[in-house]
Amino acid sequence: MEGEVISRNFIEQEIDNDLKEGKYTKVITRFPPEPNGYLHIGHAKSILLNYGLAKQYGGTFNFRFDDTNPTKEKTEYVQSIIDDIKWLGADFGDKVYFASDYFEEMYQGAIKLIKKGKAFVCDLTADEIREFRGDFTTPGKNSPYRDRTVEENLELFEAMKDGKFPDGSKVLRAKIDMASPNINMRDPVIYRIARMTHHNTGDKWCIYPMYDFAHPIEDAIEGISHSICTLEFEDHRPLYEWVVNELEYENPPRQIEFAKLYLKNVVTGKRYIKKLVEDGIVDGWDDPRLVSIAALRRRGFTPESIKMFMELSGVAKAQSESDYAMLEYCIREDLKMKAPRMMAVIDPIKLIIDNYPEGQVEYFDVENNQENPDAGTRKVAFSRELYIEREDFMEEPPKKYFRLFPGNEVRLKNAYFVKCVDYKKDADGNITEIHCTYDPETKSGSGFEGRKVKGTIHWVSAESAVDAEVRLYENIVDEEKGKLNEDGTLNYNPNSLTILKDCKLEAAFADAKKGDSFQFLRHGYFCVDTKDTTDEQLVFNRIVSLKSSYKPS
Ligand code: ATP
Ligand code: MG
Repeated sequence: MEGEVISRNFIEQEIDNDLKEGKYTKVITRFPPEPNGYLHIGHAKSILLNYGLAKQYGGTFNFRFDDTNPTKEKTEYVQSIIDDIKWLGADFGDKVYFASDYFEEMYQGAIKLIKKGKAFVCDLTADEIREFRGDFTTPGKNSPYRDRTVEENLELFEAMKDGKFPDGSKVLRAKIDMASPNINMRDPVIYRIARMTHHNTGDKWCIYPMYDFAHPIEDAIEGISHSICTLEFEDHRPLYEWVVNELEYENPPRQIEFAKLYLKNVVTGKRYIKKLVEDGIVDGWDDPRLVSIAALRRRGFTPESIKMFMELSGVAKAQSESDYAMLEYCIREDLKMKAPRMMAVIDPIKLIIDNYPEGQVEYFDVENNQENPDAGTRKVAFSRELYIEREDFMEEPPKKYFRLFPGNEVRLKNAYFVKCVDYKKDADGNITEIHCTYDPETKSGSGFEGRKVKGTIHWVSAESAVDAEVRLYENIVDEEKGKLNEDGTLNYNPNSLTILKDCKLEAAFADAKKGDSFQFLRHGYFCVDTKDTTDEQLVFNRIVSLKSSYKPS
């Protein structure tokens, strides 16, 4: 959008000021996921925001695993997270940082705090610590261990590290202010004893730093300028600042919070998705009905469409919910010019042209994309036997039905006019085939002006049709009833998946590869499924229909 003046978001304004005041000379951002699950569309927002800022200011973007909490981590997620970030196009220079690489420096930081009289070893139990902490209305009480000497604390902390005490028997706490109105500042725990094998450091450590202590150190070590996180960390910012200041990092990073991305009536919570996976309601974390990045990719969303969505949804300080329809708008916009528009019959019925010569095949030159002449043309075969959509024929049509019915004439898209002369039914009354005659004078592009027809329908030539399975999706949440039931379970829509097994596609689809996207005329945009497509069987996911309920303002 060259030349257009777009108002800068509040984070950009902060960064502009910081650079102007010389607080930082280079913008360095990071994305620090915990490897404890698949990334979802909310994480995509954080990734694209952080990467986008680094790029915009000519800075650097670091990708770091926040792997300081061995209980919740699983290495299986590491590769999926890397793949997702690469796919989104966030260039992290191929260096992956690990917070666990800084355990030694964090340990030294803790010793530094003890020496400054700013940290102490505390023997209170977890319950006692909670009790002593007070609440929003009551100030906390000092721990009886708060006044241990520096020497005693150094000795005890070293013994904690050396495995001399059982798990949970002692913690190291920052010595700040038990009367602080901010509960996070009431002598927070910064190290705990936990004998857990870490995927990176093995059994080297039996003490692990707490997030609020570890995170600012990770940022400071990497020279992050702007540590951008979501609103729930706003109350933790004073502690973040306390840590980097007490540890005397030069040019310490600053934390800026923004509102998380939420989608109306869409499930992102790990808890719910895990349940859907376990109950077999979805086909894993990349089921196309979900909004994990892997699922969006499998469904056929593009990185460009997700970027556009993030731009439209904006960066704000106030919590809000975005519409899924806006995401659909973005993928339609992105595929509008890119995706070839071809004919696919998803609920086929045979149409036979009685007066068309048997065995004859004609080829029509058809534009690949009417809105994009650069997309070129292809040949589409036409023959005596075709497939059309079952819904494009009615025995007894209502008023204003302009498609095929006995005696009516329609245009077959890019081909001829055909008139319905007969149809056949099986014993159950289902229509099995439709008979037509065609008028050779009415060939598309011939300039025929004799008469007009009101309906145009699409079709596929039977002799060269490609078979495919097509999957149509609806929201997995029942939108009328809302996301959750009263008992907190997910209110899911039993019709969220429709599988159409015997679809007939025009011959050009024989070249479709996994992940390719197309517009099926009248039906929407579809993508070749990467998981279930085989050499024998094409499977398509509907990304989005052509009808939009979202209007860009
Ligand atoms: P979840 O519980 O949904 O998996 P999380 O915050 O626990 O999210 P992390 O791996 O800790 O996941 O987060 C990595 C980064 O992604 C953090 O900076 C976090 O603030 C950000 N993030 C997580 N969810 C969203 C969201 N919905 N919108 C924007 N950013 C998000
Ligand atoms: Mg988390």
